Amino acid sequence: MEVISGKEMAAEIKSQLAADVVKYSQQYGRKPNLVVVIVGEDPGSVSYVAGKTKAAGEVGIENNTIRLSAETTEEQLLDLIRSLNVDKTVDGILIQLPLPKGIDEDKVIMTLSADKDVDGFHPLNVAALWQKRPCVLPCTPKGIIELMKRKGIEMAGKNAVVIGRSNIVGLPVAKLLLDQNATVTICHSRTKNLAEVCSQADILVPALGRPKFVKENMVKEGAVVIDVGVNLDPETGKLCGDVDFDAVAPHTSFITKVPGGVGPMTIACLMQNTIECYLKNVQSK
Ligand code: NAP
Repeated sequence: MEVISGKEMAAEIKSQLAADVVKYSQQYGRKPNLVVVIVGEDPGSVSYVAGKTKAAGEVGIENNTIRLSAETTEEQLLDLIRSLNVDKTVDGILIQLPLPKGIDEDKVIMTLSADKDVDGFHPLNVAALWQKRPCVLPCTPKGIIELMKRKGIEMAGKNAVVIGRSNIVGLPVAKLLLDQNATVTICHSRTKNLAEVCSQADILVPALGRPKFVKENMVKEGAVVIDVGVNLDPETGKLCGDVDFDAVAPHTSFITKVPGGVGPMTIACLMQNTIECYLKNVQSK
C-alpha cells in the first residue's frame, strides 16, 4: 500500500510551472494575471482564496483579490465580471463559490468569459469536456487524473466507481475516467447496494462530502482509492475525507489522504489552467 502525497506532487508541478512562467514572461512581455473575486467573509472561502493566491505567488502568476462586501448586489457583481471579461490584461477570473444568498451562481458563471474561466465551470467548457474538445478542465477532476497518471496507475479497462454526481467533481471526474478508457459507474444518494457496487471497483473515487463514510467492506482488496471529500471529523473537529482512512488504507494498493491528497493537486491544476488561459490570450493578439 502506498499513500500518494498530492502535496509533494503538486509542489513538483508548481515548480515546473514557475519555470514555464519565467520563460513565457520573457517571450510575451508580461506574466499571467489571475483575478480572484470573493464576496462576503465566509471563513472557508477566505481560507481557500488564501491558498490559491499563495500558490499563484509561488508560481509567479500576478494575482489580485477583489474583496466585495456580503451586501454586494448581483448586478454589481455581474458588472465587475463584464469589465474583467473585456480587460485584455486579465487572463483568468476566479469567482470564489459559494456566493451569498440573493446572488444567482448560475448567472454569475454564465456571465464569465469561457476563455477566462480558470475553474472550468462555464457551460461552454463543460460542453467541450463532454465532446472531448479543447477546453478548460475543472481543477479537481483534472488533478485526480493527473495524480493517477503520475503514479503510473493504469486506468484503461479498469472498473472505476465515482460516488457523487455534482457538476464540479462527480460528473466531470467520471467523464475524464471514461476518457482514460475506464469502465465507469456513477453512484449517488439513491444508489442501491452502494457498498456492493463500490466493492467491485478497481478505482474508487468518493466525492460525497460525508466524513469517513467509506468503510473497508466497500473497498476491493488492492483497489486504488482517491478521496475527494473535505469534511470536519465530528469526533476530533479536524479535517477528514470521505474515507475511513485507518480502516481502509491497509486494503488498498494506492490511497490519498485528507488533507494533503487531492486538495493540493486541485490548486496546482488551477495554476495550470491560469497559464493555459494566459497563453490563449497573449497568442490571440
Ligand atoms: P455535492 O455537490 O454536495 O455532491 C455530493 C454528491 O454526493 C451528490 O451527488 C450526492 O448525491 C452524493 N451523496 C451524498 N450523500 C450520499 C450518500 N450517502 N451515498 C451516496 N451518495 C451520496 O458535493 P461536491 O461539491 O461534489 O463535493 C463533494 C466533496 O468533495 C465535499 O466534501 C467537498 O468539500 C469535496 N471537494 C473537495 C475538493 C478538493 O479540492 N479536495 C474540491 C471540491 C470538492 P445526490 O446527487 O443524489 O444528492
